[in-house]
Amino acid sequence: MNREQRHMERLRKQRKRHIILLIIFIAVLVAALCIGLISYISTNVYQDEDEFREYADSELKKTSQFSIKGKTKINYEYGKPISYVIDYGTCDNEYIAAFRDQKVEEIKAQYRQEKTEEEEERAKRYEGQRRYKPLSHTLILRSSVYESDNGIISLAIYESGNSERKKDMKQDSSMIYTYQFSQKTGKPVVPQQIFSEKYKEICSQFFTEHFEKNYKKDELKEGWQDYVSAGEGNFNKYTVTDTGVVFFFDEGTVLDESRGVVSAGISEAELGTGLRDAVLERYIDPAKPMVALTYDDGPGGEAETRILECLRRNGDVATFFYMGSRVAGNPTNLKTAYDLGCQIGTHTWNHPVMTKLKPEEAQKQFTDTNAAIKAVTGEDPTAFRPSYGETNDAVNQMSAMPVIMWTVDTLDWKSRDGQKVFEAVKKNSNLDGKIILMHSIYDSTADATDLIVPWLKENGYQLVTVSELIKYKTGADPQSGQVYRSF
Ligand code: ZN
Repeated sequence: MNREQRHMERLRKQRKRHIILLIIFIAVLVAALCIGLISYISTNVYQDEDEFREYADSELKKTSQFSIKGKTKINYEYGKPISYVIDYGTCDNEYIAAFRDQKVEEIKAQYRQEKTEEEEERAKRYEGQRRYKPLSHTLILRSSVYESDNGIISLAIYESGNSERKKDMKQDSSMIYTYQFSQKTGKPVVPQQIFSEKYKEICSQFFTEHFEKNYKKDELKEGWQDYVSAGEGNFNKYTVTDTGVVFFFDEGTVLDESRGVVSAGISEAELGTGLRDAVLERYIDPAKPMVALTYDDGPGGEAETRILECLRRNGDVATFFYMGSRVAGNPTNLKTAYDLGCQIGTHTWNHPVMTKLKPEEAQKQFTDTNAAIKAVTGEDPTAFRPSYGETNDAVNQMSAMPVIMWTVDTLDWKSRDGQKVFEAVKKNSNLDGKIILMHSIYDSTADATDLIVPWLKENGYQLVTVSELIKYKTGADPQSGQVYRSF
């Protein structure tokens, strides 16, 4: 081979190498495109807002057992890496709608935090290895409001958290939250207001049989009986309907995790005496601290109207010691207080020092006042507070009612300052079993009430009437002629 031939040979080899390299390059490119295209087409994870909505709708369909006929508003919030879809079921009650909206926000915030932390964790793990791409997460919430004819409104919020896994969206977890409210007041109620004491025993027997009958042995999770026993924490998720009660069992308790939240109903007839005929409007937990607000010298005007409005708003009660001479001038407030479930007591006819009156004059103070109150409410007053706190055995016996003194004197008549009255209550380290003295005729006391009532509740106190306080703190009904001051 001469020099020319060698040169040609080298060029040919070089060209061949280039062609091979080009072919390899094209092949790699095509393969990469194919993989990309296939994975794009085959992925079940939504890629844009339209796909998300489609996905969200199909997921909502799976939870149709929680939907109610009627108007609904579905909220789609498409985002990366977290999207939300929330079905706000019909709710005419403003208070419950506001409560629901707040719960929804809480659940969303919790989910957001959880998933953000999860992604931060993943990002850290992927550092320096390959490009980190956050996974998609979807929170599906469905809220439903059920109204029953025995005075209960139930709210159920079903939560399903779905996350991207192997090019698909898979459910991580499901959860149900339920809440009950009084139809009349719109306030939350506890199981004791809906069920009688034996309801858990009745439910335990019923649902043990129900699951044994409807599922095969291997479908039931090991230890499932624990979740249908009458024990603490069971049968606390439910909605009340016109025909009975639907109970919910958390994911992975009675049946396998894959079955999600399990629901099962029990009829009113099957619950029998376990279900009250109508919701108890008030329930006092004997184990929790309680305090009695008392107001003297009414029925009053605008100030007292505000105090009553505050009690109504909070679903609470107080005890009013009214003067007979003022009842005729303001029967409306007296009637309102009585209708709210407040206790009505007597504070004499015209505020004399009872111990200085002749027996027949003292008797007339009681007789006339009782008659004036009964003319409005249909009932005699049920407690006596002597004006100026001045009393003796003879007056106490004559009253024929329990005699109620006080443990905390707010001196509201003296300060006429709402903040000072509030301070007088707040400065007590423990108000359990205490009777608080105020007067319902001052604007400043109405101001104070607006502060005191929410503060007491935030601090775990139940507001009770003096009769309730006596009953729970002494274990006996209030006794006529006996003086009560402190517990
Ligand atoms: Zn007084």
